[in-house]
Amino acid sequence: MIRLTIAVAIGGPLVVVAALVTASGRGLPVPAVPVAIGVVALLGAVLVVTLRRSRRWGAVGVVTNAALAFVWSGYWAAPLAPPAPLAGELPAASPPSEMRLWQLPTGAIHRTAAFGYRGGAFSERRDFVMTATLVEHPRGAILIDTGFGRAIAEQLKTMPLFFRVVTNLERTRSVAEQLDAAGFDRARLRGVVLTHAHWDHVSGLGELPTVPVLVNADERRFIDGGGWITRLARDVGARLEEYRFDGGPYLGFPSSHDLFGDGSVVIVPAPGHTPGSVVVFVALPTGKRYAFVGDLVWQREGITEREERPWIVGALGDHDPARLRESLLRVAAIHARFPEVTLVAAHDPRGFATLPTLRR
Ligand SMILES: [Zn+2]
Ligand SMILES: [Zn+2]
Repeated sequence: MIRLTIAVAIGGPLVVVAALVTASGRGLPVPAVPVAIGVVALLGAVLVVTLRRSRRWGAVGVVTNAALAFVWSGYWAAPLAPPAPLAGELPAASPPSEMRLWQLPTGAIHRTAAFGYRGGAFSERRDFVMTATLVEHPRGAILIDTGFGRAIAEQLKTMPLFFRVVTNLERTRSVAEQLDAAGFDRARLRGVVLTHAHWDHVSGLGELPTVPVLVNADERRFIDGGGWITRLARDVGARLEEYRFDGGPYLGFPSSHDLFGDGSVVIVPAPGHTPGSVVVFVALPTGKRYAFVGDLVWQREGITEREERPWIVGALGDHDPARLRESLLRVAAIHARFPEVTLVAAHDPRGFATLPTLRR
């Protein structure tokens, strides 16, 4: 019976690992959820019996399986309370008539809804897209992030083992390849605005060596002092150019930076996922508005249902959960007041659906 108890103590954490791998989108050769529920029920039943026989191993089993339950509960739906309503109107913008917006899909990581937000289904496969955006403006074109570059497979090899195990990616064409194929003159690029400096947003920078990379002071410090997750941002040899939040409050955010001075591209600080994470608001001459929220949430439900990432996932990738929540609720308030502003979470294909791809 003691052997069985030891198995329970060790089996609990193994179920957690299996659940995490499954939620990451790597997939297991068994229907994960029914098996996991069955195993958990069995472990619980065995625990109850064995606790009476061996206190020591029974106690170990209780601790490890309580940890299991805690991690598992992080995947359950737990919507944040609605934020206070946002007052005022949409800020004025006078985008030039020549302004255009394009999507540049560079690949995807195969994941599940459960990985993206609390309450998401383990069984629902979702491709987390790696899509950059090209904003054409008469005063210079900008890219919002770069997605995967040509070297992503080699770049991934420099990441920690645990991360490679849960990251099943697929590359299509890099931003540079798409710009060149469309005959786009790279000299027209004014810069790359990073929503943040994580590896999957900067991978393509190495192919754009002459283009300035626009970051704020907080993100620059994060790049310089970050660990493995910003190593790529350091290694690609980006020409960092710092901007300041020199503008006033914008849609509930305390400050802003108006890139072209006409309200067409406005960057606001939305820290939490990384210290210098931003939201980029774009207003088109058609009247259409977009909020590029980066990795504030990974899937749109993060905002529409106010569901955070499962905490075990957030613990690995989010810099400051409390500030992240504050930033998330600010965008949720904008969404509640102005549902016509299209939310573009960097890895959710639904946000990009109305944007054309670049062709010659
Ligand atoms: Zn990120
Ligand atoms: Zn990302």
